[in-house]
Amino acid sequence: MTDNSSKVDMDKLVSLCQRRGFIFPSSDIYGGLSGCYDFGPVGVEMIRNIKEAWWRSVVRERDDVVGLDASILMNSQVWKASGHLTEFTDPLVECKSCHKRFRADNLESDKCPECGGEFTEERRFNLMFKTFVGPVEEDAAVVYLRPETCQGIFVNFQNVVNTSRKRIPFGIAQMGKSFRNEITTGNFLFRTREFEQMELEYFVKPGTDEEWHEKWLQERINWYVKYGIRRENLDVYEHPKEILSHYAKRTCDIMYNFPMGFEELEGVSNRTDFDLTQHQEFSGKSMDYFDNETNEHYIPYVVEPSAGVGRCVLAFLCDAYDEEPDKDEIRVVLHFHPDIAPIKVAVLPLSRKENLVAMAKDVYSSLSPCFMTQYDDTQSIGRRYRRQDELGTPYCVTVDFQSLEDNQITIRERDSMGQIRVPVAALQDTLSAKLAGEDFSILPPGGQVVR
Ligand code: ATP
Repeated sequence: MTDNSSKVDMDKLVSLCQRRGFIFPSSDIYGGLSGCYDFGPVGVEMIRNIKEAWWRSVVRERDDVVGLDASILMNSQVWKASGHLTEFTDPLVECKSCHKRFRADNLESDKCPECGGEFTEERRFNLMFKTFVGPVEEDAAVVYLRPETCQGIFVNFQNVVNTSRKRIPFGIAQMGKSFRNEITTGNFLFRTREFEQMELEYFVKPGTDEEWHEKWLQERINWYVKYGIRRENLDVYEHPKEILSHYAKRTCDIMYNFPMGFEELEGVSNRTDFDLTQHQEFSGKSMDYFDNETNEHYIPYVVEPSAGVGRCVLAFLCDAYDEEPDKDEIRVVLHFHPDIAPIKVAVLPLSRKENLVAMAKDVYSSLSPCFMTQYDDTQSIGRRYRRQDELGTPYCVTVDFQSLEDNQITIRERDSMGQIRVPVAALQDTLSAKLAGEDFSILPPGGQVVR
C-alpha cells in the first residue's frame, strides 16, 4: 500500500462513489438537494458495516453500556432545556452585492469570496429545522428535527437506570439521524444537512469525569486504527475555552486528514451534569442517582464520544483509496479493512459457459448466507477484478474449466493480487479465516499457491 502523503483528490473520490454505487446526490433527477446524499447498493452495505463495528465495540463487547433508539421528534421542551433554542446558532453574514450567505466564523477575509462585496452585520442563525405536528400550523404544535441524538438519551436516563440494572459508571449508546440547517454545506459527506450520528453518553461519578474523558478519547482513536485508519492521519484538537460549547467542560476533537486538511471526525466531550440538571429543572422530574456503593446522591457527569457516520465513510474511503501502477495502467483500489468492506467476496466464473455458470452459482449460494457476496459474469475477468478492486472487495473467487475437473477454486487477494487454489469443500472456512485476518499464504489441506 502506498502512503497517503499524496492525498486523495476529492473529485476522484466523488466520481468513484457515484460510478460504483456508493453515494448519489439526493433527488438527483431533479437537480439534487444541497447537503443531502443517498447511499447506493454498495454504500448502504458500508454504512451498515461501520455502524455494526461501532455498536459491537461500544455496546456488545462491553457489559457497562446499553443501547437505545429514541424518536427523532421530541417534545419541544427538550430543546428549551438543552439550550439549543437559544444557543445552537452559527454567525451568519450576507454579501450586500451577490446576496450569497456565509458562516462568518469560516471566512478568511471581510470581503465576499464570490464577488469581493461587503458583508451585512453578523446575525445569529439557529440551525434546528422546524416543523409542525398536526394539521394546524400553530405555535403550540411546533417541533424540531433533532440536531443531535443524545437528548433522547438524557430524557430516558431514569427509564434506563430503572430497567437495566446498570450502575455508574455506565453508558447509553444510540445511532440515528440528526438534522442541522447548516449555512454552508460541502466537502461531499463532510458537512450535510441530514446525517447520522453514533453517540455514547457515558455516565460517571463527578470527580472521575476527567479520567473517563481521557479513556474514551483513547478508546475511540484505537477504534479507528483497528479498522484501518492510519494513525498518522488522525490528530487530536483540544477546544480552547473561548470556543467550548455551552454544555462542555472540555472537548477534544478527533481530527482526520481529509483532502481539505485535518478536520473534525468525532468530538469527545465532557458535558458535566449540564444536560441532566437542565432536564431536571425544566421537567420537574428528579435526575438524582443514588450510588449504593458510597451511599451518596448525585447527578452524574457525562462523557460523550460523538461520531458522524458520513464523516466516517469519507475517512474510511480516503484512507483506503490508492492508485497503483499495474503494467501500463493504473489500478484504483480501496484497501478497506474486511469488516468495513461493503462486499466481502465476489464469485466470478471465468466465462459464461453453462457448466461454469452452474458451478459458480452453486458456490455463490453456499457463500451468500455467510458473507456479503456478489456474483458477476459480465465482461472479461481482468475488468471484473478491476471493478471489485474499486469496490474494495477483499477476495474474488474464480471458477474456471479446471474447477469442473478437480473441484478446486481460485481465491484472489485484493491487496497483493496473489492467488491460491483451494478445494471447494474448504472454501467457506478458508474465506472466513482470511476475512478474520489469517495470512493469505496459509493454505487449507489440499490447497496450493498459484504462481
Ligand atoms: P462542526 O464543528 O464540524 O460543525 P460540530 O462540532 O458541530 O461539528 P458535533 O456537534 O460535535 O459537531 O457533532 C458530533 C459529530 O457529528 C461530528 O464530529 C461529526 O462527525 C458529526 N456531524 C456534525 N455535524 C455534521 C454535519 N453537518 N454533517 C455531517 N456530520 C456532522
